[in-house]
Amino acid sequence: MHVYINSSLIPESEAKISVFDHGFLYGDGIYETMRSYEGIVFMLDEHIRRLHRSASLIQLAISKSSKEIKSAIHKTLKANSLKNAYIRLTISRGFGKIGLDPALCEKPTFVIVTNEFKDYPGSFYKKGVKLIISSVKRNLKEAINPQIKSLNFLNNILAKIEAKKKNAYEALMLNSQSHLAEGTICNVFFVLKKKNKAVLCTPSLDCGILDGITRNIVLELAKKNGMAIKEGKFKKEDIYRASEVFITNTTMEIMPVYKVDSVSYQVGAVAKLLHEAYKENVRAYLEKKV
Ligand code: PLP
Repeated sequence: MHVYINSSLIPESEAKISVFDHGFLYGDGIYETMRSYEGIVFMLDEHIRRLHRSASLIQLAISKSSKEIKSAIHKTLKANSLKNAYIRLTISRGFGKIGLDPALCEKPTFVIVTNEFKDYPGSFYKKGVKLIISSVKRNLKEAINPQIKSLNFLNNILAKIEAKKKNAYEALMLNSQSHLAEGTICNVFFVLKKKNKAVLCTPSLDCGILDGITRNIVLELAKKNGMAIKEGKFKKEDIYRASEVFITNTTMEIMPVYKVDSVSYQVGAVAKLLHEAYKENVRAYLEKKV
């Protein structure tokens, strides 16, 4: 595999950055994870838009235009002969003397890593995955805003460690007000029955979450399918009384959940319908881009 660093494609074994890079020293940087289907990067414009937003929220000047970023992604995919790929684009503050001041770094380090996309195990979709509600709270949005897709991932890693200890696949985090926020790498949805009507629920953006690109698509598809939707503030007890739960992100798409803590769920009709609609949406996107 070749890795794109700054402006060059370099064999993986030789791809190195400095120990003085502020991404390494301080987690000072941003990233995006993308997925390509049949050589087409799904929702590329949206990912690049979010990358620019993250950059502006940490006052990092990206030295490449959106067009140049797209071209670098496509070059990397081509160099690695990849069609269905996982793509990770990382931009750190760059090489600089020790110290927190971003001005110590002359230019950002720009890295693209790609890999063959490996399907998740089929059982994850058929049966679902197990989650816990973590004791680790999501970063305060007034401290490190989760809308910055930053390299600073310790908050999520601490929750993931707790999930692993409890044999769970993923951890959901509450915010400082004990409202549901999001997973360590995903957004969360669940279905509540109200007067026999199913309502698709998900934490609102003001709960302090990343506005997932998959989350947005799911909300649009739910609207199109005439579902009742509630974006709001929820407690963990709301998810415990849900009839189904699922998580979303760019690589997993829509993944059902069979357990949260000690509460069990079936893979439900809403997750199935939305996942089919999501796949159809991907197909339509690819057709338009060919
Ligand atoms: N929330 C967090 C914390 C994430 O890291 C991610 C994805 O990496 C998401 C949500 C889902 O975002 P997207 O659907 O854009 O992949």
